[in-house]
Amino acid sequence: MEVSFQEEIKSLALGEGDVFHGEGILAITKALLQSGVSYIGGYQGAPVSHLMDVMVQARELVGALGVHVEACSNEASAAAMLGASIHYPLRGAVTWKSIVGTNVAADALSNLASPGVTGGALIVVGEDYGEGASVVQERTHAFAMKSTMLLLDPRPDLAHMVDMVEHAFALSEASNMPAMMELRIRACHVRGSFVCKDNKKPLISTQSPLQEPASFDYGKLSHPPSTFHHEKLKIEERIPAAQRYIVAHGLNALHAGTHDEVGIIVQGGLYNALIRSLQQFGLADAFGHADIPLMVLNVTFPLVPDQLAAFFLGKKAVLVIEEGAPEYIEQEIAAVLRRRDIPTALHGKDLLPATGEVNTEVILGGLAKFFARRLPAVDTTVVQTMLDAAVLRRTSSAAVLDAALPLRPPGFCIGCPERPVFAALKLAQQEVGPLHIAADIGCHSFATFAPFSFGHSILGYGMSLASRAGVSPLMQRRVLSIMGDGGFWHNGLLTGVQSALFNGDDAVLLIFKNGYTSATGTQDIISTPGKDSKEAIGDKLMSLTATNLTIENTLAGLGVQWIKTVHAYRVTKMRDVLREALTTEFSGLKVIIAEGECQLERQRRIRPWLAGLLARGQRVVRVKYGIDEDVCNGDHACIRLSGCPTLTLKDNPDPLKVDPVATVIEGCVGCGLCGENAHAATLCPSFYRAEVIQNPHWHERLLATVRGAMLRLLQPA
Ligand code: SF4
Ligand code: SF4
Repeated sequence: MEVSFQEEIKSLALGEGDVFHGEGILAITKALLQSGVSYIGGYQGAPVSHLMDVMVQARELVGALGVHVEACSNEASAAAMLGASIHYPLRGAVTWKSIVGTNVAADALSNLASPGVTGGALIVVGEDYGEGASVVQERTHAFAMKSTMLLLDPRPDLAHMVDMVEHAFALSEASNMPAMMELRIRACHVRGSFVCKDNKKPLISTQSPLQEPASFDYGKLSHPPSTFHHEKLKIEERIPAAQRYIVAHGLNALHAGTHDEVGIIVQGGLYNALIRSLQQFGLADAFGHADIPLMVLNVTFPLVPDQLAAFFLGKKAVLVIEEGAPEYIEQEIAAVLRRRDIPTALHGKDLLPATGEVNTEVILGGLAKFFARRLPAVDTTVVQTMLDAAVLRRTSSAAVLDAALPLRPPGFCIGCPERPVFAALKLAQQEVGPLHIAADIGCHSFATFAPFSFGHSILGYGMSLASRAGVSPLMQRRVLSIMGDGGFWHNGLLTGVQSALFNGDDAVLLIFKNGYTSATGTQDIISTPGKDSKEAIGDKLMSLTATNLTIENTLAGLGVQWIKTVHAYRVTKMRDVLREALTTEFSGLKVIIAEGECQLERQRRIRPWLAGLLARGQRVVRVKYGIDEDVCNGDHACIRLSGCPTLTLKDNPDPLKVDPVATVIEGCVGCGLCGENAHAATLCPSFYRAEVIQNPHWHERLLATVRGAMLRLLQPA
């Protein structure tokens, strides 16, 4: 990974009384060090990638504290790491993206939560829900409930979030329950400040390790009959202990208001949006003082029935503001009210949308309905006018924009090595016919958008090969499974490759070996080329010999007999190998490895290197592609085959032709795909390749002068 987090690492080193300024997720990272963690692990994914990215680069700082950092191979391995806290008084924290990461970790989490923990165990989950989310829309809450884990949902304020990290460890230790802290996208990126404490050296650390292992205790194993006892412990001891801690330390904030007859219960993470909404009704100030009594659930599991009952008693109606479906919190509150015969009216999803992100506009709508029903003294006309105007603005601008602008789906970076492979796949399908394509998670899933539109299903990270197991035996033509090297190591090797080999499946797997888990922020993986080989590559395309052969060797070691590595930019060769894999007599697993470094990382690496060459007055050659507009026939086959954003259209300069011509704009990184496609698909001969030479040799200057003179001679003004 070429991104540097040196500035962030300085923030982690701040001491007692220093003021931290920055993003929420970095504040959480600092809070872990202030809480005396002994170990930290995780698997990257937005919106919490930053935590591991910073930690991995801060190994020197955290190493001095005796904290161990592990970049885990997937979320299951991160969850299993928390097993260290079962026996030992070690505080540990791991992180991942939820809900997908929690799904992967679920087995280890169940087996962790059953015996429970001695040292505080904290899972920082990026709750990737709502606008901007990139995964299926489900909530982490269900996992906390089913496995009996604490779920913290802190109010998005840096000082408060940092406090809640420290409480999470203490709460975990007081209740023996692992804790999850859910941070929405906005909470991860909210900026603010807090006054720091010194980082705390853990008592047990890499510098002062445990002398002896814990004595054998069958009760700490998640085996029967221990598991039957664990279930009782969860309900009879752990949850009550957690509830006592929550009340004793005031973790759920209770704010009195002037309108005692009603109240609002809100998840901590939605508090800022609620206060902003109440301000619009004139019921709160900018400092968070509200006229409506509020209960802010900074811990959403377990709830505290006595605390809830006390809040409800004497009120006419209470609104519960909860994000997503099902409404677990509201249902639990309804059960508390019913069991205690509390007659207060309960509102929630009857006034708020059942699904989707709960933002300020959504809350405004819910509050307007709530006040109209239960607090008519509040004037809702101004807010209602605002809401109506927002809807009108959206619908009218959508009508205008839809008519004026084409859809702009996300796509591969300019020069991405995955684009040429999908161009080759288009060409291969012209020969073998349309394929069922099992797609996967990763940058290659951009091929599900135009101009490729490849992919029939996505079943999870690294699951493409496994997901074709039910399709390929029932389909006449071979099925193609696609995954990245990140997905291969995350899950694909075991769930897909091993299963296909074991069952002797006739399957075709295409692996993108770009060297990183690019979609999560280009983190290194076990097959990332070493630094030395990357430097040796210089400004050339990555060559086969320069890269790490871990994937090939692993597959060969497992017994895969048909493996072909092809450079991603060699479109003709890739088309031929795809055709071969899809038609060969060989009936076992066939693996094609498309090799080409992630262009984002490559540019990050070579730009400073090129700048250094230029600064030293050395010769630098940049390749650019272009299109001769006099030759372009305007059929745009090149664009349909590539989708590169820098290969686009412009008005035809010929007044007798109406079709726009193709053009290459500034931003082309000269990846070579235009030339490869023109050759592989026998496109019109309008493409040219140009070399822009900076600091040329004397003979190159002379040649350019002669050429210029000849051109002027042949093309008089
Ligand atoms: S990040 Fe890398 S792999 Fe992903 S689209 Fe960009 S160039 Fe391609
Ligand atoms: S050579 Fe073609 S495909 Fe490659 S960056 Fe330039 S315009 Fe895009």
